[in-house]
Amino acid sequence: MVTAGPTREPLDPVRFISNRSSGKMGYAIAAAARLRGHDVLLVSGPVALEVPAGIRRIMVETAEQMQQAVIGNLDTVDALVMAAAVADWRPAVVHRQKQKKSKMEAVLQLEPVPDILAQVAGIKGSRLVVGFAAETENLLGEARRKLSAKRLDMIVANDVTAPDAGFEVDTNRVVLVWPDGSSRELPCMPKSEVAQYIIEWLEKQLPASTA
Ligand code: C5P
Repeated sequence: MVTAGPTREPLDPVRFISNRSSGKMGYAIAAAARLRGHDVLLVSGPVALEVPAGIRRIMVETAEQMQQAVIGNLDTVDALVMAAAVADWRPAVVHRQKQKKSKMEAVLQLEPVPDILAQVAGIKGSRLVVGFAAETENLLGEARRKLSAKRLDMIVANDVTAPDAGFEVDTNRVVLVWPDGSSRELPCMPKSEVAQYIIEWLEKQLPASTA
């Protein structure tokens, strides 16, 4: 299972909070896994990308919907790659009617969304779980903190301030980090090649029958 894209957290029927994720990294991972013969379930936030051939896709909008799709399908998969840029906060109140412009000077109250990987950590059993860390500062420190807090098998850290890495572009520059403290910095490369690295690493960890 691969998650991709942003989530959208509604404020009212026409407005939402989201982020700059294009979904390209997650879709590249799904496509790389499919190319190598795996069955792939893609859980996607709203993106402008076609579903790669041979892949089952579940479209979601909010973090809560993504959480339901991930948790609901977890027992059917050997590995989860959580490439989605889940919104960290959502409006505490979702209005049923479009809010009037005059009201928009009001303070927007936010609350945290559920952390999907934190929930997965408690129920994943022997499944492999890979997370992403998109950072603007202290890349390795933040990646190591998230790797440990979310009990991941690997985290893919990327500095989203670099022009050739992170959101929207077709290339990425990542550091792979593991729980034993080791890490591997990959040069700038197409997202399709980063994806292949991730899938090949997963294959090496999985029993031969599933890889
Ligand atoms: O947002 P954060 O930097 O904590 O994201 C790190 C990892 O956790 C990513 O793989 C992301 O998909 C995942 N995540 C999640 N649920 C959230 C926020 C992030 O599973 N609410």
